[in-house]
Amino acid sequence: MKFSKTISFVFIALFFVQSISAKQVKKSSRPTSGPNKKAGRKHALSKKKPAPNIIDQFEQKISTSYDVITECAKHPKIIRVLIDEKKIENNVNFSIKSTNGFVLESPSSSKIAAAFDSKIVELMVKDSKLYLKCKDGKFRHIKKDDLEIYPAKGHLTVNGKSYQGSLNFRINPFSASVLIINKLDLEDYVSSVLRSEIVPSWPLEAHKVQAIATRTYAIYHMKQARQKNPNSLYDLKNSNINQVYEGVHNFQCFKNAAEQTKGLVLTYNGNIALAMFDICCGGIIPANMRQNKKSPPYLKRTQPCTFCSNTVFYRNSLTYRSQDFVELVKSNPNLKRKFEGFGNKLGDIQITDKDAAGVVHKVKLAGRKYVSLTGSELLSSFKNKIKSLAFSVKKHDNKITLICKGYSHFNGLCQWGAKSLVDRGWDYKKVLNFYYPGTTLSRLKS
Ligand SMILES: [Zn+2]
Repeated sequence: MKFSKTISFVFIALFFVQSISAKQVKKSSRPTSGPNKKAGRKHALSKKKPAPNIIDQFEQKISTSYDVITECAKHPKIIRVLIDEKKIENNVNFSIKSTNGFVLESPSSSKIAAAFDSKIVELMVKDSKLYLKCKDGKFRHIKKDDLEIYPAKGHLTVNGKSYQGSLNFRINPFSASVLIINKLDLEDYVSSVLRSEIVPSWPLEAHKVQAIATRTYAIYHMKQARQKNPNSLYDLKNSNINQVYEGVHNFQCFKNAAEQTKGLVLTYNGNIALAMFDICCGGIIPANMRQNKKSPPYLKRTQPCTFCSNTVFYRNSLTYRSQDFVELVKSNPNLKRKFEGFGNKLGDIQITDKDAAGVVHKVKLAGRKYVSLTGSELLSSFKNKIKSLAFSVKKHDNKITLICKGYSHFNGLCQWGAKSLVDRGWDYKKVLNFYYPGTTLSRLKS
């Protein structure tokens, strides 16, 4: 135990210290039920279409095993997710709740520091230091500004969300911020992510597809983070930069999908695959995307997916008055300099660079002067209203209409397409083989 003498003294003097082993605590903090605030994203309804005659070529067997232990030498079955990062220019306070008390630990030691039988632990960050509120009401400094909190039983709640496993609070002097990292069992993480990334009412087989994609994606990033930097603090973020993760839920369907695919991942040539996924591919063929030139073959699908064609995301359009369109683009703080002297009137708009897949790379706007934008720059002005870089532009009656294909990045699994294939009788193995061609379904070595 590497805690400072001060804090050790405080723990011993002010709290009832129980002799609970770290192992016992970690075990007892495994699966629990929690709040059910969000039932997943809203999606459009899809209708069944006649089955395509290509099912047999996507048969897949679980044939090999994947050694995650060697790949991620330290704690390969525990994933570390960054759930919050706050700058510490000002004081920051955190309240952590647990109905059955806590165990606090110094991450630099395997020994338990102290057990709290209260229901709230309060922390404060001041002058780049981490403080714990003790029983006498005073805040005391935690040595190394690094504290791991486990629930004695059940789960922990912070910032209004509940989490399985432990929460690690630490100051990162390089980013001048305080990080909250949730460490939990990989399978619990997979089950939790499903709640945010897929629709609960979809069939189990579609949930299984997503569970394997989610697990594979997690292991890929775990491996990347740990191999790149053995001292890395976390493996993934909790947002759609990686996968959306919001902690504990009570959707049994997602727990079933995780359980029934336990340990299954996609590999390619013996390496873990980058199992990207999006909501609706819009019929875009990844092999034709310029940005995919150097991508692994499994992200260069040549077979078109039109199975998502009955969703509202497959084709969608947005119309703006010309002057509103210009106003929106000009008000984008990142484009302010480019639009100096452009004026308020849009003379013309043209796509000047589009790849074979239909993804827009450059757009030219004519006002008092010409301004050239990347497709991403243009889309970033519309605050997520336009969901796709595969779009065309129509100028008519002093209005601009953007007609978009799909939703997101078009790589890997198309979730609505997968759901449609499951409705037609495809099992999860065939669906995965279709969207990640050439991959092998492997089981993690235990
Ligand atoms: Zn699709």
